[in-house]
Amino acid sequence: MSKDINAKNKDMNTKTAAAQGSQGARSTQGDSVADAIIKTQDLVKTYRKGKIETRALRGVSMEIPRGSFSCIVGPSGHGKSTLMHLIGGLDRATSGDVSIDGISYAELSDNELSELRASKIGFVFQFFNLLQNLTALENIETAMMFNKNGLHSAKEQRARALELLELVGLSEKAHAKPYELSGGQQQRVSIARALANDPEILLMDEPTGNLDSKSEDEVLDQLLYIHKTGKTIVIVTHNTEVSDRAELLYEVRDGRLNSVTRKGVTL
Ligand code: ADP
Repeated sequence: MSKDINAKNKDMNTKTAAAQGSQGARSTQGDSVADAIIKTQDLVKTYRKGKIETRALRGVSMEIPRGSFSCIVGPSGHGKSTLMHLIGGLDRATSGDVSIDGISYAELSDNELSELRASKIGFVFQFFNLLQNLTALENIETAMMFNKNGLHSAKEQRARALELLELVGLSEKAHAKPYELSGGQQQRVSIARALANDPEILLMDEPTGNLDSKSEDEVLDQLLYIHKTGKTIVIVTHNTEVSDRAELLYEVRDGRLNSVTRKGVTL
């Protein structure tokens, strides 16, 4: 099969995955690709350091259904985190495009992209990235300060932060600093922080990568619960406990989308 046809087939397969939706997708019946909340089109990312070029992504086209629980999997160094960073608008593509709800990143200024990111996407990272000198509550509140369209008064932000801590089962730790919390609790605070601006999408890079198995279970339970509230969750992970729960698996190899699997069925 020629490369072009192969690429087209992959594209069609991905579309099929999106068209068939997922158990968690809150789509009306009959919605097809139109219900993809995230789309990437021929995404290429080349890093350049001096004379050294690394082609991290070599043309990834994929569609992620609204409300789905998806994982991006594949060997280390093959482009998963790069793909997540581009989907999250944390970095710009060398070529190709990402769109969320039909809004193309290529057409946005850096400020517009930051605003879109703040209102639509929550991030969770492997090492929690909590500010060590702030309490759990304050860490969540900081996320709301950067959202222009969000809550304005300090009182409203505090009420929302408390609500989110309750959601992740950590109300009693509101005034604890990160070093007073276990790894699992810190990650739950960072999940609450990611939800601060009520984003539709949660992007996570190895959220259980730094946790023992008990904390891992706690965090996974939390994610499944949040998914049930209608959020689209996309997780880069090596952890099969997590990827086994995904409705869709996007496998990245050598900077390309190698396969899309839906609930154990390779499409
Ligand atoms: P994965 O998440 O699958 O482990 P990455 O997306 O982190 O893969 O990396 C893909 C390739 O891009 C690797 O060769 C990595 O070394 C390279 N890379 C990632 N980020 C950068 C960067 N900021 N600068 C230069 N090279 C990078």
